[in-house]
Amino acid sequence: MRVIVVTGSASGIGAAVCARLAGEGCRVIGVDLRGADVCADLADASGRARAIEGVRALAGDALDGLVACAGLGPQVPSRESIVAVNYFGATALLDGLRPLLASGKQPAAVAISSNSATIVPEGDGTLVAACLAGDEPAARRIAAGLDGSSAYAGSKLALARFVRRNAPGADWAGVGIRLNAVAPGAVQTPLLQEGLDDPQFGPAIRGFPIPLGGFGSAAQIAAAVGFLLGADSTFCCGTVLYADGGSDALIRRDTY
Ligand code: NAD
Repeated sequence: MRVIVVTGSASGIGAAVCARLAGEGCRVIGVDLRGADVCADLADASGRARAIEGVRALAGDALDGLVACAGLGPQVPSRESIVAVNYFGATALLDGLRPLLASGKQPAAVAISSNSATIVPEGDGTLVAACLAGDEPAARRIAAGLDGSSAYAGSKLALARFVRRNAPGADWAGVGIRLNAVAPGAVQTPLLQEGLDDPQFGPAIRGFPIPLGGFGSAAQIAAAVGFLLGADSTFCCGTVLYADGGSDALIRRDTY
C-alpha cells in the first residue's frame, strides 16, 4: 500500500486528491489547519516543523508520495500570508519530507502551482527572487507592498521554478524521487468561490477566457495529480502540467 501525504487535505483540490488516492487503495495522510490527520499551520516555521514531525510519527521511515497543495487565494487580505503558505509552506514540506521520500517505493512529489504564474505579469521579479533565495522575511516584505493578484502569481511562479530547479538535481532525480507540478486554471472550490464573491476579483475571474468552456472541477485536477504520482508518468521530471481548459495556451501560445 502506497503512503502519500497531501497538504490542504480538508478542502477543494486537496480533498479530491485524497478521495482519489484512497479509492486507489493508498494510505493517505492529510495535513491541514483543521480536520486532518496532522493539524498544523504552514504559514510559519513552527507549524511547518510540527507538520513534518506529525507526518514522521504517522508514516514511519518511508513515504511514497507527497502533494503540496495547501494554499491561499489572491483575495486573502494578508499578502504576506499568501507567500508564506503558497511558497514557503510548500517548499518546507517538500524539503523536510524528502528524506522519507528517498526511502519510498517509486517515490513522487507534486506541487500545486497555478496558471496565474505565467499569465499574470511577473513585475520586477524581486518577489520570485526572494522566494527562491529562501529569504522569507524579504519575500513577506515585498509581498506586503503588492496587490493580491501579483503576490499570488509570484508565489506560484516561484513554486514552479523551485520544481524546475530542483527536480533534475542530485537531491531529487539523483535519488529516484520524481518532482513535478500541476498548474491548474480556475477550478470550482471554496478558494475560487471566495474570489468570485469578491467585488474586485469576481468580474475578472468571470471574464477570464477558458477555451474548453467553464471552470474545472477538483476531480479533474486530482486526475492530473494522480497521473504525476503514479506509474504512468515515470519519465516525467520537472514537468509543469497545465490543467486549465486551454487558457495558458490561448494567452501564451507562442511561448514554445
Ligand atoms: P481550498 O481553499 O478549497 O483548499 C485549500 C486548503 O489549504 C484548505 O483546506 C485550507 O485550510 C488549507 N490551508 C490554507 N492555509 C493553510 C495553512 N496556513 N496551513 C495549512 N493548511 C492551509 O482551495 P483549492 O482551490 O482547493 O486550492 C488548493 C491549491 O490549488 C492551492 O494551492 C491553490 O492556490 C491552488 N489553485 C487553485 C485554483 C482554483 O481555481 N481553485 C487554481 C489554481 C491553483
